[in-house]
Amino acid sequence: MCGFFAPFLLWYYCRMKKLIIGNWKMYPVELKEARERFTQIKKTASVLRNVQTVICPPLVYAGDLKKMVAGHRVTLGAQNAWLEQEGAYTGEVSPSQIRSVGLTHVIIGHSERRVLGETDEMINKKILAGIKAGLVVVLCVGERERDKDGEYLRYVASQIKLALKNVQKKELSNMVIAYEPIWAIGKNALRAASSEDALEIAILIKKTLADMYNRDGSHVPILYGGSVNEKNTKDFLTASRIDGLLVGRASLDPFVFGEILRGAEKVK
Ligand code: PEP
Repeated sequence: MCGFFAPFLLWYYCRMKKLIIGNWKMYPVELKEARERFTQIKKTASVLRNVQTVICPPLVYAGDLKKMVAGHRVTLGAQNAWLEQEGAYTGEVSPSQIRSVGLTHVIIGHSERRVLGETDEMINKKILAGIKAGLVVVLCVGERERDKDGEYLRYVASQIKLALKNVQKKELSNMVIAYEPIWAIGKNALRAASSEDALEIAILIKKTLADMYNRDGSHVPILYGGSVNEKNTKDFLTASRIDGLLVGRASLDPFVFGEILRGAEKVK
């Protein structure tokens, strides 16, 4: 009987965990600094039972930081990947290569990459390639601005539909969707979204997934990202009913990020 329920219990236990991803972007400038920050974050994260922490450092540091990883509570991810597994693509790194050095996650469709010319079609191909390589793909969606007529809702729904074209139901277990409104991201952010803003989009994402996949879409974890800090963590994780956070600037400060992780640990 117990054996029969074991996979379900494991799935349920993992689902209960909050997923907190740190996107380090192109910081810090030196490996030594990256090692120091990662050491401190790892110390906090590795004792938390209810939080899965993923750090996405500049890829050039990943191999080094990977040697410092022990256990499953803290893993590493990539901030981007190419849409083929190998080939003559100077300067690109493939999902299979990322997986082969032990990274678990890849962020795809971040607004800072879309602005460099990444199209919905490329994002879709990158997602399919990431899943094929065995990575958990974190798809970023979000509007540039909000309008009174609710056009932004249609925009976010269409980003999801285009990104998930040809992604099969059974592959959804490798997907995470992060709502990152562009107006709330980075040092030029107007403000963080409110927990109501995030809740509205979490519902929209669930509805869009239900339209595409029926009930199979309901297990895809939803994250919020944009000016997350130690003060608003609890609000997002409770009032917005989301499964985790994608953290930019604050993930580079081990003390602040540690507070975010500890805050997430306390949320039931
Ligand atoms: C991001 O760029 O993914 C992000 C969420 O940034 P920040 O937390 O700095 O707003």
